[in-house]
Amino acid sequence: MNTPDSLATRWLERAKADHTIAFLLEALTNNKCPHSGLSSLVKNTTCGPDRAGGFAMNVPDNLITAANNKSKEDFGGTTTTTSKPTIVICQNNIYDYPDYIRTLSHELIHALDQCRAKTDWSNLRHHACSEIRASNLSGECGYGVELLRGNMKHRGGSIECVMRRAKLSVNSNPNSEGKGEEVVEEVFQKCYADLYPFMRHPGSN
Ligand SMILES: [Zn+2]
Repeated sequence: MNTPDSLATRWLERAKADHTIAFLLEALTNNKCPHSGLSSLVKNTTCGPDRAGGFAMNVPDNLITAANNKSKEDFGGTTTTTSKPTIVICQNNIYDYPDYIRTLSHELIHALDQCRAKTDWSNLRHHACSEIRASNLSGECGYGVELLRGNMKHRGGSIECVMRRAKLSVNSNPNSEGKGEEVVEEVFQKCYADLYPFMRHPGSN
């Protein structure tokens, strides 16, 4: 898949009018995660396979591409009282505009968790919790999306999807030592119920 720069740039422009994205940006501001809008916050780039996006805190621009080629989904950086996030979208692994919005939402939830809860990505429980929230709240486990993946047989399958995707991500953490599954199960209930900053699940009508 080879999404041209011009198309990825158009998706980013279009995302500015998306209500969920605007709401998540506002939540970043409210949680001492300063940004100057989507254009400077988000970098569309080309990544290795199996990677949709990532984010970094306080990482100089010239180091972002190098960091993004690592296999880990989310890469670190240092956190201070006020932290500047950068979100990377792997345009070559994004299929269409809805996929772009879901990926951007996923990474915005991680950035938000980093600022509000000081997520420590080397701590598997922290990582698991943010992955559960990101998969649950980004829409990537919505009924239609799972149906397209051929994974969903019934509507309750969304929970299974969130759990499956969180386990995959946590297992890619260099500190996971194969414990991704058990850690996700341990924190699942609490983190699945945490809908912040939404008042109710963004996918519900
Ligand atoms: Zn993630």
